[in-house]
Amino acid sequence: MTPLIDDFLSFLDDSPSPHHAAANAAQRLEDAGYTRVDETAEPKTLAAGSRHFVQRGSSVVAFRMGTGAPVEHGFRIAAAHTDSPNLRIKPNPLIRSNGYIRLGVETYGGVLLATWADRDLGFAGAVTVRTATGTESRLLDIREPMCRIPNVAIHLNRGVNDKGLILNKQTHMPALFTLSDDENEDPFTALLADRLDVEQADIVAWDLGLYDLTPPAVGGLHNEFLYSARLDNLASTHAGLAALLTSDDTDTPTSTAVLGLFDHEEVGSQSSTGAKGRLLEDVLDRIVRDAEEQAPGGQQRAIASSFIVSADMAHAIHPAYADLHDPMHMPKIGLGPVIKQNVNQRYTTNNDTAARFLGLCEAAGVPSQWFVTRSDLACGSTVGPMISSNLGIESVDVGNPMLSMHSAREMCGTADHAMMVGALTELFKGT
Ligand SMILES: [Zn+2]
Repeated sequence: MTPLIDDFLSFLDDSPSPHHAAANAAQRLEDAGYTRVDETAEPKTLAAGSRHFVQRGSSVVAFRMGTGAPVEHGFRIAAAHTDSPNLRIKPNPLIRSNGYIRLGVETYGGVLLATWADRDLGFAGAVTVRTATGTESRLLDIREPMCRIPNVAIHLNRGVNDKGLILNKQTHMPALFTLSDDENEDPFTALLADRLDVEQADIVAWDLGLYDLTPPAVGGLHNEFLYSARLDNLASTHAGLAALLTSDDTDTPTSTAVLGLFDHEEVGSQSSTGAKGRLLEDVLDRIVRDAEEQAPGGQQRAIASSFIVSADMAHAIHPAYADLHDPMHMPKIGLGPVIKQNVNQRYTTNNDTAARFLGLCEAAGVPSQWFVTRSDLACGSTVGPMISSNLGIESVDVGNPMLSMHSAREMCGTADHAMMVGALTELFKGT
């Protein structure tokens, strides 16, 4: 296994929630010499070649200043998302019946419900606790098989293999947590308090999601596959980070490199930290305003020479469902990054931006493939259209091919990851 894949597996394993993914991204950036921007403080001059990042909750935007004025040389932007569909624990989660306690959950994003059944589930995210001076948000990862969503036996559901496993989000998805007939105890907040080392009464609120405890793994006869939860879209998040940090080792280009990692893509990106919000725009404004290297023209001039690569996972051809793809656009695992096009603008790719990405692949010496959804099927979307339309910056939508998208455990190709890192490294090397 290569150091890159080792690092990818660690990142996946260490990031069971978007809160953890953002914290791990921030940690890697700090370790590589990026300084955290305090958005409440007076702004400082941003020296040519200096490296910084802004974190708002579970979203992070990192940037490396180019040697030229940003106004004159623009931004090379890569964007991805930190969130994945999962099951989030409700504020009043305890459902007592038949001697069991289950935890009520909300589905977050487009969950492939049946894949959550019969898995050993932990939960992770952020918990707000009361302190002597107010409240504070703490990361929490309960990496133990605390929960389970049990299938009903086939003897009691004889038609399941013909009709499919149909699960109701409200009644079937609550997760079995414990056995109890005591109406007065609250074992859930007691557990949180114990693990966070605070009083039970000081647990105020949480954003906690269930996750499958099976660690990420490389598999297949020749280790050509990679199996994990959250590949959509921690794969692109990790590829963006790896590319930015790799490109730091080359001569600093004149253009400014920007990596945006956003939460809430799976639910439409409309939030204070999502790709539809102000976060990226605010960071670009800061760069133009505070850059040491200045030139006339302001933000609009910077925008005119900027480019976005929006990276999110793509649908590989499924051997048992090949007719769900357009026969001329069937991305294959192992054959490199996929350029996603949709003329109805669900993806931002156009002929010019596709050509630019093809140029990056060529410079990196990696192959590429095309994806267009079947003309009679609805097309997905991602952060690209939001960012590109907000800012008026030309953009291309790309992503590595994968199977089992939105399953509790997904799969992609091992070789494709290094290829995407290669193409994005070329983007950040800029001009
Ligand atoms: Zn995605």
